[in-house]
Amino acid sequence: MQTTTTGRQLVISNSARESSGRRLLCVVAHPDDETFGSGSALIKYAAEGASVYTACATRGDVGEIARGSGATPETLSAVREQEYYDAGKIMGVEKSILYGYRDSGMADTPDNDHPNAYIRVPIDEVVAKVVDTIRELRPQVIFTFDEGGGYGHPDHIRASEAATRAYFAAGDPSYPGSPLEPWKPSKLYYHAFPRSMMRKWFKVLTVVDPDSDMAKMDPEKMGVADERITTRLDTSEYTDTRRKAIAVHRTQYSPLDRMPSPDLEDEFLASDHFIRVDPPVADGAEGIIESDLFDGLDI
Ligand SMILES: [Zn+2]
Repeated sequence: MQTTTTGRQLVISNSARESSGRRLLCVVAHPDDETFGSGSALIKYAAEGASVYTACATRGDVGEIARGSGATPETLSAVREQEYYDAGKIMGVEKSILYGYRDSGMADTPDNDHPNAYIRVPIDEVVAKVVDTIRELRPQVIFTFDEGGGYGHPDHIRASEAATRAYFAAGDPSYPGSPLEPWKPSKLYYHAFPRSMMRKWFKVLTVVDPDSDMAKMDPEKMGVADERITTRLDTSEYTDTRRKAIAVHRTQYSPLDRMPSPDLEDEFLASDHFIRVDPPVADGAEGIIESDLFDGLDI
């Protein structure tokens, strides 16, 4: 690792970064989920020397197209794929994997029924792909969406289910779906937005962008109850990099486009929240119990 001291600030050169032996895998559904949802966590661990990987199920074929981005319905999936790789580079992601399934669209839209839609692919096939990824990359920590997919997107719910099943299957020598050597990851998390934050966001969103798909949703069905959050990362050091990575996803309206409140934007960027799924939290434990996804691991 190359470190230099400028004034009182310690600078760690990214290019000469030495691996810490920590490996982190983030499993998502669309190109942008990795950046818009949990980008600060990815940036933080990459900056600290972990090998950070993302695995994305679809190419985001039927997402919105932001005005001025130049993409068309025909080019959208290719453009979004490139945005995913480019944002990954900015965040320090070592490997950005894309499975290439078809985006199933928002809940209750005709794209849900497309024969190639991700949610129509047999779950065992999807799980097998994630198991292969886990066995190849050998992450100690994995995170994905909460079981409600953050805001109920069917692809998010599917990705969460697949990642959860794959997490437990990857270390099982009797699992039949992968030829690779078993690898048992140590911790599984669901990335989650505290509902208190969603309520604040909606208050603003319904005023500034009342016609958007998001504004029509019920904030009480979004994010998770604050009491479920077990782990909060302080990512306030990385807000500039996060903003740069968010800007790369030009075809998509970002959470920041719909958050014209500086206080809320700072709150959104300065921390990432998670629910620890495995190992389970001890009975009786309440509130935030960790500030590091690798807490307790001897690596
Ligand atoms: Zn998504």
